[in-house]
Amino acid sequence: MTGANREWRTLEVPIRPGSGAPKRCPWGHELAVGGVRQGWSQDYRAPEWLCEACHALTGEGGVWAMIDTAVARQVMETGVDEYGLRLVVLPPPVSAGIGAIQLRLGRTVFGEVRLSLCPVDRRAILVHVEVEEKHRRRGAGRVLVHAAMERGARFDWSMLPIGRDPVAVAFWARVGAAGSASPHPCTHQVDAKVVPAESRWTKWW
Ligand SMILES: [Zn+2]
Ligand SMILES: [Zn+2]
Repeated sequence: MTGANREWRTLEVPIRPGSGAPKRCPWGHELAVGGVRQGWSQDYRAPEWLCEACHALTGEGGVWAMIDTAVARQVMETGVDEYGLRLVVLPPPVSAGIGAIQLRLGRTVFGEVRLSLCPVDRRAILVHVEVEEKHRRRGAGRVLVHAAMERGARFDWSMLPIGRDPVAVAFWARVGAAGSASPHPCTHQVDAKVVPAESRWTKWW
């Protein structure tokens, strides 16, 4: 892989959130039946897996990398280096305000999730997920959503309404909603203007 020398990077190998040995490949094969091989992605600095069933069918492919989304594996801006696929935390400007987690490889930012966490009321709101168009369908959005939810484990989650954009609807239908699609902010989140005024009324629609 020559990725290390390139300034702008791509998600050549698709990614999925998780750690440890997977039971199924991202394309649905039971690995105990079809067979699996474990490797290491030097580019991502993450475990890489190969589904033998996928590989035998296509003669290539069937490879994906597992990205550990645990909070302990997320880094702050000061911990960023040019190696490996990183989940970089951008803290909110005010408590319970909107912060972000970005998925980066070197200088390339594939996408980000924006979220608000109130540690007092233990409420979490998933505000937005954005993956640059040319990097979609590689698992980046799913990894970002998992990373966000790890930061608010055991919080009461809701999210902004999904809307009607077919790409957004298909994304959430594939990944699974982060919580009720009608946000219920606490007073701190209202004060921090996490939720646009109009969407506070969506529950009445
Ligand atoms: Zn497979
Ligand atoms: Zn609060």
